[in-house]
Amino acid sequence: MANGRTEIVVIQATSFCNVDCKYCYLPDRMLNNRISLETVAKIADRLFESSFIADEVTIVWHAGEPLSLPISFYEEAHKRIERRNTRGVKIAWSIQTNATLITDDWCQFFKRHQVRVGISLDGPKEVHDAYRVDRAGRGTFDRTMRGVRLMREAGLRPAIIAVVTDASLRHPEDIWRFFTEIGAPYVGLNVESVEGVNVTSSVQYDGAENDYKDFLKRILSSMDKAPSSPLLREYENTLRHIMSQSSNTRPQDNVPMAILNFDSRGNISTFSPELLTARHHRYGQFILGNVFEQSLDDLIHTDRFRWLNVEIEEGVKRCRETCGYYSFCGGGWPANKLAETDTFESTETSSCRLRVKARVDAILEHLEERFGSDAGVGR
Ligand code: SF4
Repeated sequence: MANGRTEIVVIQATSFCNVDCKYCYLPDRMLNNRISLETVAKIADRLFESSFIADEVTIVWHAGEPLSLPISFYEEAHKRIERRNTRGVKIAWSIQTNATLITDDWCQFFKRHQVRVGISLDGPKEVHDAYRVDRAGRGTFDRTMRGVRLMREAGLRPAIIAVVTDASLRHPEDIWRFFTEIGAPYVGLNVESVEGVNVTSSVQYDGAENDYKDFLKRILSSMDKAPSSPLLREYENTLRHIMSQSSNTRPQDNVPMAILNFDSRGNISTFSPELLTARHHRYGQFILGNVFEQSLDDLIHTDRFRWLNVEIEEGVKRCRETCGYYSFCGGGWPANKLAETDTFESTETSSCRLRVKARVDAILEHLEERFGSDAGVGR
């Protein structure tokens, strides 16, 4: 078994989302499931007794719109988790939100608890509103930007996660200028992928790799021209990897127990967070247990964990044996492999062709053009 320490804990406070993005992978975003404080406390008990927990852990409220629950819930939830942290694990709090429900009070909460906030914002209005809509089909850009403004007025600078769709590919310079103008410190680009109930992707077409590569190269050129440009996660991670010359690049998604995911009923999964809510015609669900019935250390002895781990490891092994980009990728993302190829034991997907191959090619070409072929990097 790959040697996983739990570094990321995803807790689904609610499956409900107040908006209805066209590419969302969550099947239950209409349902108002809410986690109880008793379940939160039990999750904390299980975490801090686990032999897998790392010395530092990020607890992320995600997989639904976390701000649909009141601030008072999170005040109490944080207290209950911290009270149980008898091992002195360093906790970083994080929330991924669509920002439409942010108020001044939320900003004060983020400050009080030093919460790292990630905002889902795809770019300027025409790009964002193409996919990020509410249940009436109306774009959410203005509501999201209201939340961004409130955060900035409170002195907070949230990171941005932007989903790249076909609507983005035509506007790299506009997107980067927009993120620079709103003062984003850090931007991550998530290429729209086939996952969960999102069974198609707008960037899954012949020639998408070239279009995405061109998109990234134009963003990198925009970054070079703007001194106050945000950091781009894809560029930073790729550079860090090149500089360290590390061959240990497995994403936490394919390492057992590195990410633990808990739904609002206390059900547990590991590997890709998307597997927490996924249902498969052959495998069923990927729930390994429940905090009220099992310890986390018990999970790895279940038959379900064993076959899941064996199949995911086989997919990683095949990637290692066949893919020239393995050292940059580490064998891909199980939820995406399953959604695109119907098995975990596969290698290339249309998503990894963009997310890894086109990304690495674009960055290496950019470095070579900027610094000459002596940039000293290679696949
Ligand atoms: S880029 Fe694709 S094929 Fe290559 S290692 Fe990653 S997931 Fe596997």
